[in-house]
This record gives sequence, structure tokens and C-alpha cells, in this order.
Amino acid sequence: MKKQTQAVQTRFRRCDVYNAISMPLYHTVAYEFDTAESMPDAFCGRTDDPDYSRVLNPTVVYFEDKVRALTGAHDVIAFSSGMAAISNTLLALASAGKNVVTSRHLFGNSFSLLSSTLSRFGVEARLCDLTDPAAVEAAIDGDTCCLFLEIITNPQLEVADLSMLAESAHRKGVPLVADTTMIPFTEFSAHALGVDIEVVSSTKYISGGATSIGGLVIDYGTCEGFATRLRTEMLMTLGAYMTPHAAYMQTLGLETLDARYRIQSASALALARRLRTLPEVKKVNSIGLEDNPYYALSRRQFGQTAGAMFTIDLESREACFRFLNKLQLVRRATNLFDNKTLAIHPASTIFGPFTDEERRAMDIHETTVRLSVGIEDTDDIFDDIRQALCPAED
Ligand SMILES: *Cc1c(COP(=O)(O)O)cnc(C)c1O
Repeated sequence: MKKQTQAVQTRFRRCDVYNAISMPLYHTVAYEFDTAESMPDAFCGRTDDPDYSRVLNPTVVYFEDKVRALTGAHDVIAFSSGMAAISNTLLALASAGKNVVTSRHLFGNSFSLLSSTLSRFGVEARLCDLTDPAAVEAAIDGDTCCLFLEIITNPQLEVADLSMLAESAHRKGVPLVADTTMIPFTEFSAHALGVDIEVVSSTKYISGGATSIGGLVIDYGTCEGFATRLRTEMLMTLGAYMTPHAAYMQTLGLETLDARYRIQSASALALARRLRTLPEVKKVNSIGLEDNPYYALSRRQFGQTAGAMFTIDLESREACFRFLNKLQLVRRATNLFDNKTLAIHPASTIFGPFTDEERRAMDIHETTVRLSVGIEDTDDIFDDIRQALCPAED
């Protein structure tokens, strides 16, 4: 089966008593057992009978099964948010005295998780330039528990050379953990490029147009006992499993992912090309443009498409705010890959809590506006952006 068929047609593990075509939403906490004798196997993880919805729920399992079918993963575990997927993964891999080799170019909350939260528990964040393989290899030592990176950083749009970095990590016996939120897993195989564990904010592309918050850990079985630890330890002790309601919404989102992504990624590239022609736009950063330094690498790893996010640089911070205030169709909001086109000034919002010096080190600029392109008509999006950029009629 092709991925699009698979995304729609995954079968339930057990027949529904009413032959429902959509996976029913099991809004229940607990599950009754016929006999006392049948309970120990479920509670000790020897069967897949659900016992308590903090650790197993049929609606969530169906969503996980769909993702497993699409990625070929060994196991998939759904969490209550992208950050829950990331923090549970790192908590499962790390312990006091260990370090995580990573970069300054990270989603703001992931950076804070590593540099503030985990560091309080004795886990060191080793920041290095991931475009420099020698620096990465030098940073990895006997106490490194993983190499953690984002496949495309946001908003800098630096693309990680996954095969090269996987080779560096594996040579030193360290797993590669990649946040693949920026390109749907239906478009490329992270595992084929050497990724051991994939983490995804399913809030973004998968949720089906910003319906719900969620996260996924996709484990390829190369890291001994990892998925088992997540299921039998982290879900039990940290309690961040996805809710059945979110799983229901995201299952529907997954079914339309391919159709939405096709429109959004094509529209983003068309807009990036057209915005280049406007004099108010000083720079367009899109890895789908042929003259972008990451274009070839992106094509090699991710195929024909390059996602639905890009940035534009304007004259100044004031010009960015003027532009954002004049938008009528495009929404001033955070989030990525909503059905609606969104615009935000990252330096003053997502990266607002950091100091000027920290922002400089992260390559976050005052002149940058981030655009996430939705499924509206491309001409309508372009017209709104053009009128908002036009300086004359204030
Ligand atoms: C949004 C995002 C996250 C966090 O996901 P939530 O679902 O908001 O918790 C992590 N990584 C990346 C790259 C993101 O874009």
C-alpha cells in the first residue's frame, strides 16, 4: 500500500462491536476484567489489554498504529504535546552526569529544557555547530547519552546533514535523536538517514489544522530497551500520555495530511518566489529556493518538497511590526502548519525571554518575520502580504 492509502486504511487491532468505520473515542479511565486471573498479565504488560488510560487507551493506540504503519517503526508512543515527547525521551535516555550534544539552533522551549530544566538535574547541554562534523565528534564523549537535533531549525532554516551526523554519533556508540516536526514523516524516512529516535510535535502538520496539541516518539528499535522504558517507566511515572480526544482529532488529521501538505508546501514555495520580487522584502529564506545553501541537501534528504514555513527579512523591527499590523487575511499568531496562514516576529515573541546576546548567538534577528503557509488560495495570501508591505497609504 502507498502511504496515502495506509494513512486512511489502517485496521483496528480488534473488531468494533458496532462495526464503526471511524475509531470510536474511548473516553474512559479504566477497563473491566472478566476474571481476577486475567488481570496480572495486563498489569504486568504481558498482553495488550488496556487497564488504565494513563498508559494505554484504544483510541490512542489506533493513532500510534497508523504512525507505525507509515514509518515502519518498532514502536510509536503518543504524548500530550511535542514538548512532552521531547522531555520524556531525554529523561528516558539521560541521567545525572551525562550530557546531550546539541546546538544553539533549537526550538526555544527545547533549548530551555536542555539548558535550564535538565541542567538542574545534572545533565549537561553541550552546544556545538552541527554544520561542523569535527566539532560534533569532539563534543561527544563517554558520558554522552544522545545527539539531539532538529532536521530543519526554526526560524534559521539550517538543515542537518543527517547521514553525516548519524555516522559521527554511531561511530561513538551514541544514538541520534531528531525532532522531525518540520517535514512530515510521510515525505521521507528519517530512519533510512540514520535517525534512531524521531520526536514530532503532532500539533503542527498532523493535527489537521491546529485542532489539538500532541507529540509522538517514533522508535526504530536500535536503542536497546528504549520504547519499553517509555511505556513501563515514563508513562507510569510522568503521566504525559496523549488523551483519547486528541488522538481522535489527530487520527483524522493524519488521514488528510498528504493532501494538505501538498497544497501548503507548493503554495509556500510559490509565495517565496513571488515575495522576492517585492522591493520591501530584503531577503527571503526558503530552503525550497534553488540558490539557498541548503537546497541540495534538503532535496537529497526530504525529496521534492521543503515544508510550508519560510522567513522574510524587512528593513527593521519597526517595519516588521508595521507589516504584521496591516495584515488582514494572514493571522498574527504562533504555531506552524495551521490551515490558515500565520505570521509572527520570532525575536520579540518566541525568543522574547532571551537576552540580546543569547538571541545573537542563536542567529535570531530583529528584522525577520516567519510565515507558515496555509491552504488558502495562494493569490489571496500574496495579495494580503503585498498590501501589508506597501509603505504608501499609512
Ligand atoms: C512546536 C514545536 C515543538 C513543541 O511542540 P508542542 O506540541 O507545542 O509542545 C517542538 N519542536 C518543534 C520543532 C516545534 O515546532
